[in-house]
Amino acid sequence: MIEIKKISKVYKTEGFSQKALDNVSVNFRQHEFASILGPSGSGKTTFLNIIGGLDEYTSGDIIVNEVSTKQFKDRDWDSYRNHRVGFIFQSYNLISHQTILKNVELALTLSGISKKERKGKAKRALKEVGLEKHINKRPNQLSGGQMQRVAIARALINDPEIILADEPTGALDSDTSVQIMELLKKISKNKLVIMVTHNPELAEKYSSRIINIKDGKIVSDSNPYDGKINTKEQKIIADNKFKKTKMSFLTALSLSFNNLMTKKARTILVSVAGSIGIIGIALILSVSTGFQNYVDSIQEDTLTSYPLTIQQESADITSALLSLRSGSNEKGDSNEVKEQQTITSMLSSVSTNDLKSFKQYLEKNNNKIENDVSNIQYSYSVSPNIYTIDATNKLAKLNPSNLFSSIMGNNSIMNSYSSMTSIYSQMVDNRDERLKKNN
Ligand code: ADP
Ligand code: MG
Repeated sequence: MIEIKKISKVYKTEGFSQKALDNVSVNFRQHEFASILGPSGSGKTTFLNIIGGLDEYTSGDIIVNEVSTKQFKDRDWDSYRNHRVGFIFQSYNLISHQTILKNVELALTLSGISKKERKGKAKRALKEVGLEKHINKRPNQLSGGQMQRVAIARALINDPEIILADEPTGALDSDTSVQIMELLKKISKNKLVIMVTHNPELAEKYSSRIINIKDGKIVSDSNPYDGKINTKEQKIIADNKFKKTKMSFLTALSLSFNNLMTKKARTILVSVAGSIGIIGIALILSVSTGFQNYVDSIQEDTLTSYPLTIQQESADITSALLSLRSGSNEKGDSNEVKEQQTITSMLSSVSTNDLKSFKQYLEKNNNKIENDVSNIQYSYSVSPNIYTIDATNKLAKLNPSNLFSSIMGNNSIMNSYSSMTSIYSQMVDNRDERLKKNN
């Protein structure tokens, strides 16, 4: 039994609100065939949608089997729509690319039963509406009356307590309309059928109750009901506990797959577009990695042609230059004589390396450093004295070159530079040969 208490519905569209239902109160029996009549725009569809949970009411309450729907959460409404009400529309609302068997079955996919059971139930429902011969046809291969019967089978399959029909015969000729009305009348023997219609004669002939609506208000009710429940009805209420909506994971998966397959072209397009994106990113990544590797190898090759030189005496040129700069930057009183120890600070940046121990270390750990160096060369301060006859037939010293020392004088820093300018140096070791020999 369903009690509608002071339901109002206001539609708000930009700066304008429309009262589609105005304080409507009415009770429906557990089993009856109620027809709703009224002019277009009087709120019939709104009324039906609110009973079916397709639309929210603005105020009031709907009480279904003594349970108020005010506190309903989304989940409760889902369950209500799936198990307690079945919808029949004027436009049938069938899925055109699926067979009518699949169309009816689809209404069961949310109830969590097996595929086989679903099929059996769908076949039985279609038989009930007289379509057992057409189960493999598609909706566009059927007549209007047949399509509406498919819709009725679909509405019945979950065995709901309430059937809501919005102008089910609106698009049908009078003969077919009669058949549909007969069917609905049969259904109303053990269900509550609420039907919106434009046809007062059919309503008069088939339904057990006629409610007239005008401007969102009930203006007449041919067979009102006070809502007192008799014991028989109470028992039915107790039997109708809330069933929960559920869909098995596999069903969900196969439904999604079927949906994808029905839109093959779109699926393929989306996959291709997705792949292009992924391939593009992969390409960019690989090109950038390859280029980075190339830069690395060039860098390595270039740097290896500049050997790392470790000398017995080394000067920190940077700090020497910095000490020079800081000296010149100092501003002082013109009366003061300032001492700048430029040379001292420059020379203090010269340090000595213990090359002897370093050489020992290198020779001892030859295996460890083998992979990090391509060659090690030692040069000693002893350099051969080489003379030649120059163009003027005089004896000239070639090595060690005395060019630097003759210009700059003799000190340790200049000596180290002159050793670098030596024309003669040790030949580069062939490392590969050496490795072969060692093996
Ligand atoms: P009926 O089915 O009796 O022809 P409806 O219930 O469809 O009438 O509509 C009742 C009134 O509510 C109409 O004036 C209609 O314009 C308005 N209405 C219906 N649905 C909406 C909506 N979604 N948004 C705004 N107004 C609506
Ligand atoms: Mg309508």
